[in-house]
Amino acid sequence: MVKLNKDIIYSWFKSYYIDIINILNINKLKIFNFIFKYSCKLNINILILSLIKWILCRRKIKYLSCKVCLNCILFRNKNYFNYYYISNNINIDFIKKIYNKLLININDIKIIYFDNFKFNNYYVNNFLLKILEENNGKFIFIFSCSDNINIPNTLLSRLFSLKIKFPTEKIIFKWLYNKFNFNDVKNKNIILSCIRLSNNSPINSLVWIKKNILIKKNIVNLILNLNKLNIDNIIKNINNDNLEINLYILITLFLDYIKYKYRVIKYLYNLDLYYFFKNSFKNIDNIYNIFLVLDKIIFCLSVIKNINNINRNILLYDLINFLLINLNIKK
Ligand SMILES: [Zn+2]
Repeated sequence: MVKLNKDIIYSWFKSYYIDIINILNINKLKIFNFIFKYSCKLNINILILSLIKWILCRRKIKYLSCKVCLNCILFRNKNYFNYYYISNNINIDFIKKIYNKLLININDIKIIYFDNFKFNNYYVNNFLLKILEENNGKFIFIFSCSDNINIPNTLLSRLFSLKIKFPTEKIIFKWLYNKFNFNDVKNKNIILSCIRLSNNSPINSLVWIKKNILIKKNIVNLILNLNKLNIDNIIKNINNDNLEINLYILITLFLDYIKYKYRVIKYLYNLDLYYFFKNSFKNIDNIYNIFLVLDKIIFCLSVIKNINNINRNILLYDLINFLLINLNIKK
């Protein structure tokens, strides 16, 4: 087994880390300008900082940095003077200042990492083009950005591009499973549901897992008791900071119900609510009503997201009445 430093804590980065180091070794560190693109929240900084540590280390052995050489110590203590981290929107004067300052030192490797890079103007672009073009190995430039950010081709063509993909459901499952000790969360279907509801983003799944149980319990309780509860109280309960999440869960619930009806169970988002589907919505004899309900909730969610100052109470009042009629629930 390949030995790695313990700071590569996320299993989904291991193969990237090894591949990138292999590429650097084959090219004798002669790739100087990188761009890492990611499509979901992955904490990519952990991968990039581990690679920077490895690049800087003066006594690296295979994939390991030594942790005791001067560069390792300086980097760990955030004192490595030839490394700069620039986050989000970048300012042209600031980059020029850093670049000119680093140019003075001709010996050690210099690294500038543009995290969460966004293309903001042509002055920045032209300056970056110039310094990337001039780079003959004295600098290592690293960019990271989300997949959907538009970066001019002129800039991209000067960068070695790496796309960091979603980890598989199996990998995230294993990671989440090992993170929790208590039985409630160890439930396989709860973990899988959180991964699916987060669209396979490990970090978001982790956030989800903490609130998933409570939010779903409330929503299931609401649907099961729609006929008994006072509408004003329902609105009061769901019209909070979590309203968008509540509506999102409602959408996935009804989508799942359709899958359940058509026996495509393996694609359920809410695997943890299998028994709920089995026992609920008994009054609905026509799946057509579920489509209507879905349409209504999606519409509500889009109104809430896109129209400012909308009266949420009226919208929710209308939605709940619509649910009562179309789910054939008698008050
Ligand atoms: Zn070292």
